[in-house]
Amino acid sequence: MTQGLIEADLRSLATLLADFGVTLALAGDGRQARPLADIGPAGADAATPRMASMRLSDGRRLVVSSREPRPPAAAARAGTEPSPFIVERRARPDAADMRFRLLAEHSIDLIVAVDADLAIRYASPATASLLGCQPGDLHGHTLAELLAPEDRAAFIARHFTKAAQRGAVPDLFRALRRDGSTLWVEARVASLPPGNGLGDYLVTFRDADQRRRAEESLGRMNAELSALASTDALTGLPNRRQFDATLHKEWYRALRDATPLGLLMIDVDRFKPLNDRFGHQVGDAFLACVGQVIKENVRRAGDMAARYGGEEFAVILPGTGAAGALEIAEVIRRAVAAADTRAIVEGGHPLTVSIGVAAAVALAGGGAASLVHSADSALYQAKRSGRNRVEILQ
Ligand code: GH3
Ligand code: MG
Ligand code: MG
Repeated sequence: MTQGLIEADLRSLATLLADFGVTLALAGDGRQARPLADIGPAGADAATPRMASMRLSDGRRLVVSSREPRPPAAAARAGTEPSPFIVERRARPDAADMRFRLLAEHSIDLIVAVDADLAIRYASPATASLLGCQPGDLHGHTLAELLAPEDRAAFIARHFTKAAQRGAVPDLFRALRRDGSTLWVEARVASLPPGNGLGDYLVTFRDADQRRRAEESLGRMNAELSALASTDALTGLPNRRQFDATLHKEWYRALRDATPLGLLMIDVDRFKPLNDRFGHQVGDAFLACVGQVIKENVRRAGDMAARYGGEEFAVILPGTGAAGALEIAEVIRRAVAAADTRAIVEGGHPLTVSIGVAAAVALAGGGAASLVHSADSALYQAKRSGRNRVEILQ
């Protein structure tokens, strides 16, 4: 902890001194004193590098020099051991520094260098377009503060923990702009080699806001489309396609859980004469009315009322046996017969339905079609017995 504080302070000091053309270096430990001589003796005039050093309480040596230490490669060529100096910052930008800055400063992506505790050590000018602030505004802040609070934990876990798969896949996160708004960015994090003078990680943020918002609206449109594809336009009820899929799913669930499955097949009585008398459009309004009445009486979660086709409706009742299904069918029959149709035609017109009921504990080897067949036969029975009736096959 104490050492961490000293390191952080030294880093700040190194940055400060660099602006005065002075390099701050830190020797590895007290025993490795020899490379200090590489820096050369302190000189009295400006042409000679000036150097001062002191021993820290933990045995290491702090060196301040007006000249840069020899780069490790040069030291290696000379046959000497690599320098244990950790150069915190170079006094003057060299060609590589210059190239990095030119690239970073002309990039439309935001490039941020951070150290191990995610303190920001460099930010490119793209802060202006991406975050609405200047690079200098980020001084003293951490990378986490550039992210929307809800994305911080996930971002850090994804990129900065031991299990992190840095650089593997770019990630989409929300960056926090200075005005408090958020912007979707594609983020990529790379570890930097030690002693690079820039930081421990290089983080790139690329504006992905338009793409993400386009994806979101495409997702919404897809959801709307699939809802449309499974909904009957006239009644707003699930259509035959959704009915078939749900019945299939419920049949296998009933089989797995050994629970009963109830099914109602509902057919409007003498609908053809009604259509002939009032016209197809008025017939449609009657159908919508029947659909609404059925919907209002099938409210339990998991139940589904659907338009089966033409003037036929169907109701799936998971976990419901014969008695329960008959009860619901009777409620629907009465409600349709009592429906007020005066808003559709002057004086109203009587409307009734016949309902065939089937219920079964699913058996392996059978299928949902057997349930539909049974309910259909019961419906036929209801029609033959005079209509406006509920029937179940015994
Ligand atoms: P039953 O009591 O035996 O069921 O007699 P029904 O007249 O209802 O039976 P039928 O099957 O002969 O007639 C059904 C009619 O429903 C025929 C068809 O024109 C009408 N129909 C089917 N779909 C629609 C629709 O979407 N809108 C309208 N307006 N009529 C429809
Ligand atoms: Mg019919
Ligand atoms: Mg009919």
